[in-house]
Amino acid sequence: MREYRFKLTCRTKTPFHCGAGRESGLSDADLRRRADGTLILPGTSIAGALRSVVERLAGVEQKCLLYIKKTAISGEKHPCACQVCKLFGNVQPVEDAKASKVTVWDAVLTDEVRERVVDGVALDRSRRSASDARKFDYTEIEPEARLVIELRACNLESHELDWLGTALRLLGSGQIPLGGRSARGAGRLKAKAEARSLRSRDLTNLDHLLAAVVHDNDDDAAWPIEETFPGQDCHLPNRVTANFSIQLAPEATFLVADPVEAVRTGFDRAPRGGIAKAELPASSLRGILRSGAERILRTLKLDAACHPTTEQRCIPPDGATDDAWCCLACRLFGNEDWASRLSVEVTPPDEDVCGQRAPFDHVAIDRFTGGAREQLKFDALAVRGRRFRVQLTLDRIQPDDAPWMIGLLALTLGDLAEGRLTIGYGSARGHGFFTLDESPTWSQYGNNLLSCIEALWEKLGLQYPGNTVHQREIPA
Ligand SMILES: [Zn+2]
Ligand SMILES: [Zn+2]
Repeated sequence: MREYRFKLTCRTKTPFHCGAGRESGLSDADLRRRADGTLILPGTSIAGALRSVVERLAGVEQKCLLYIKKTAISGEKHPCACQVCKLFGNVQPVEDAKASKVTVWDAVLTDEVRERVVDGVALDRSRRSASDARKFDYTEIEPEARLVIELRACNLESHELDWLGTALRLLGSGQIPLGGRSARGAGRLKAKAEARSLRSRDLTNLDHLLAAVVHDNDDDAAWPIEETFPGQDCHLPNRVTANFSIQLAPEATFLVADPVEAVRTGFDRAPRGGIAKAELPASSLRGILRSGAERILRTLKLDAACHPTTEQRCIPPDGATDDAWCCLACRLFGNEDWASRLSVEVTPPDEDVCGQRAPFDHVAIDRFTGGAREQLKFDALAVRGRRFRVQLTLDRIQPDDAPWMIGLLALTLGDLAEGRLTIGYGSARGHGFFTLDESPTWSQYGNNLLSCIEALWEKLGLQYPGNTVHQREIPA
């Protein structure tokens, strides 16, 4: 019997949130921990992510019994025979169901882990400010935390070795997020090529058996054969990405407020990440893109986007198996029932420019005395001069959906670049105006943005008016 041990040592590239599904004394959503407080990413979450990748690599998504409606297979007596169920085990409780060949260990986050509590808000679409009842906070792990992913498997065939190797490479390249809040950029990993290893042992060989008994299982010596890491570095199918950078407009400042930083600096509002390394949370950018895209859709056609924070949001009919009934905004950004197709990742560029302090005093004028009103005085510490790299990824898209989604995003980014959308706190006070350094180029659709925008009109059943009406420059 041949046993394999895959190991991937990586660091988190973006914030990381693996929720415990309960609140703690500090935040509304605490992180998953062991009884002794150690932070973990459960093996089941990693296995689930790996399984979904292997399904895509093997191309069995539609054929596996897992994806056929329960009522249609209620009489099914045999387990699914697809390649992926052979590797990861059958999920239907029928006779002859096979267990998984793969065991995934919990990944423990031990050294160099910094936790923090951050604020999340939902935007009220009509007031364009935080919607009060939907304010929440959650705990997340700051980037650069180290974690080791380990899985063991036995009796693998060569294509199964390849799939697992490729899936782990995809994890290490940040293409597959782990944990929660992934559409908001969380859970991306990075791993160097030398951080992956595959070792094996053959327990029918006496030397190997002895090594397995004498040494601790975590020890490399217990796994005498070092193998070359299988699989290849590739891109997932049905996926397009765009990379570009955005920076604060000249003279503009920005502020995504952080409650902890406010206490630390003594200002009423202070930026997340501090001044020099002020962060632009992907959730803030994504939220702005969504509300901006909704506004464009409603401008084109009044009922083209639902109101996600109100009763007039998309609610699935019984037995819906795809998201074709959703409005276009929900199909791109997701909702309570469907995952988002768009994910946003924001990182500082390699040649990181430090932010500069821009303190502000705000007062309310007393209408009677004409002077400042004592209780309504507050100050804010904003940031000047920051720049960020942005990656937008559209995942799990059908080829004919890609153009209109890209067209909608191109128009929304155009609004951002022209100051119609602002990010973070205080747009009325001049905070949060950004410009795009370069135009986003979508893989495969690079020079075809105009046809993408036309596709959006077509999707809405409208006649594209041509450039006479649409005269401003498109972020091509
Ligand atoms: Zn199957
Ligand atoms: Zn909707």
